[in-house]
Amino acid sequence: MRFDIVTIFPDFFDGPFRYGVLHRAMESGIVSVGLHDLRAFTHDRHKTVDDRPFGGGEGMVLKPEPIFDAVESLGIAEKPARNPQRETVVLLSAQGERFTQAVAHQLSRTERVVLLCGRYEGVDERVNTLLADRELSIGDYVLSGGELGAAIVVDTVTRLLPGVLGNADSARFESFGHSDAHLSLQAEAAAEVSGVPRSTHGSGGLLDYPHFTRPAEFRGAAVPEVLACGNHEVIRKWRRQQSLLKTLHNRPDLLARAELSDGDREFLAQVEVQKPSAKP
Ligand code: SAM
Repeated sequence: MRFDIVTIFPDFFDGPFRYGVLHRAMESGIVSVGLHDLRAFTHDRHKTVDDRPFGGGEGMVLKPEPIFDAVESLGIAEKPARNPQRETVVLLSAQGERFTQAVAHQLSRTERVVLLCGRYEGVDERVNTLLADRELSIGDYVLSGGELGAAIVVDTVTRLLPGVLGNADSARFESFGHSDAHLSLQAEAAAEVSGVPRSTHGSGGLLDYPHFTRPAEFRGAAVPEVLACGNHEVIRKWRRQQSLLKTLHNRPDLLARAELSDGDREFLAQVEVQKPSAKP
């Protein structure tokens, strides 16, 4: 898979791409990243990439011409003729649709992703309407530039590519999991066959459950006894319930969309019943 990042700060990415999983994926050739300096696509002495906003107001806006030239230099097809499986152009923007694990899965099935990083007050809107296929926001807050967002997209998508993680199931059974119920069922079956509980069971749109490692006791807090019981079925059930509890507590909005079994619903109903009443 190929990423191309258009930015006024190509050196920004020296750090984020030099470590861990992402670095190894690049070294092994599973993913490659091209960094394109927007200023290289300007035609004036000052390498001007921005201008004042029409209509007045504060700040500066990134001009469309260098961004179009940069993307066209990459040989990307014009927007109407683009094959979304092969290539897509993404504008990082606080006004975009939310970048989620589901969007990351979509992008991981695309051969080439171009990421456009805004700066200042943002980017001339014609970049969005005429050049980009989608606007993506990494969260409900405003960054000073799209570079951090682009790094997050590259990291999140890369770890979904086959061969990047040592254990392919790691990406399937973590927080937010895979939205495909069929996959979850297959995986459950695989867990039964090997008799070993999967490392995570936060699949199906739930948050991951809590993890523990040695020492068994740390500063007075012991690892839950159930994890040492040796009964894989009991451990699996406990982990699932912990996922449900964590999701209920931290992200109740996810529960409405999660793949829940009858057992999950019964458990959540019990938790609701046990909640202390708000009234005195
Ligand atoms: N005026 C814009 C607004 O209120 O939506 C904010 C512009 S921001 C200071 C500059 C650039 O940072 C944006 O063009 C975009 O590329 C990037 N950016 C800011 N917040 C972002 C977010 N939540 N997700 C992705 N990119 C973001």
